[in-house]
Order: sequence, then C-alpha cells, then structure tokens
Amino acid sequence: MKATQSSRSRVAPDESLLCQFPFADGRRCRMLRYKGHPSLCFFHSREELERIELEQIAAEISPPSGEFTTVSDIERMTRKLFQLVATNRIPIRNVQVLAHLAQLLLHCQRLARREITSAHEPISGEPVPPKTSPASAPKQRVPRKPAPPRAQKS
Ligand SMILES: [Zn+2]
Repeated sequence: MKATQSSRSRVAPDESLLCQFPFADGRRCRMLRYKGHPSLCFFHSREELERIELEQIAAEISPPSGEFTTVSDIERMTRKLFQLVATNRIPIRNVQVLAHLAQLLLHCQRLARREITSAHEPISGEPVPPKTSPASAPKQRVPRKPAPPRAQKS
C-alpha cells in the first residue's frame, strides 16, 4: 500500500524532519523535529532539558565526598535547596522529600554520635575521642570500680 500525502498520514515525506527519540519498544517518535534541537521534537527536547537540569541540581546539592556524613554536608545541601526553591528550579514536592531526608540524616548522625560517645566513655565519665573506626567498635559498658572481694563469714 502506498502512503498518501494527506495531513493525517503517519508517513512524513522526509525522515530527517522527524524526532529521533526511540521508545522502549523500538519505535521512534513521529513528531516533527523542533527547530531549536538537532534531533528531537519540542516535547522530547524539553524532557531532555529537564533531565539535564535535574542532573545538574543533583550534582550541586551533593557534597564533594558524595556522602552526607557530616552536619556541614547536610547544612550545605539545605542551603543549596533554599537557593533552588527561591529560584524555582526544583519542584516543591522534591524539596519536601529532600528536606525530610535531611532531617532523618541529622537524626541518625545524632544517634551515631551518642552511640560512639557511650561506647568510649571512660571510667571518670569524661568523653574521649575514638581512636579507631567508631562504627566497628563494640558497644561495651565499663564497670566504674571493681567490687572489692568480700570476706566470707563462716
Ligand atoms: Zn519526539
């Protein structure tokens, strides 16, 4: 069957004018290519732009170490989120989720610090900084004073 040139035709006269976005099932988008993009239609070029923007935002809020292990890492992320909200660069729903996760991270850090402090608490009660990896140190209670041996009555 020969394709017609009607406005309802699904076959474009020139394939180079069509969007090159591939779908998961192997088909390609049939929309006309957007003039501002070398290979995608307006909708797919907008999606591509949004994806690139989100990747940039993720890189901006992530600490240099790639992990949120210190309070300053989380504080830095919170400051960055504040800027992103103020400039309307991130959906408010994402900010709410990230802010909640930041609260959980801070809470977990407090618990970990308390755990480390109690594991390394000396007999006198003064906290001592951990010498080795605190996460691997077993939590132990050190008796304050050994009980004197009791004289047995007979
Ligand atoms: Zn497209």
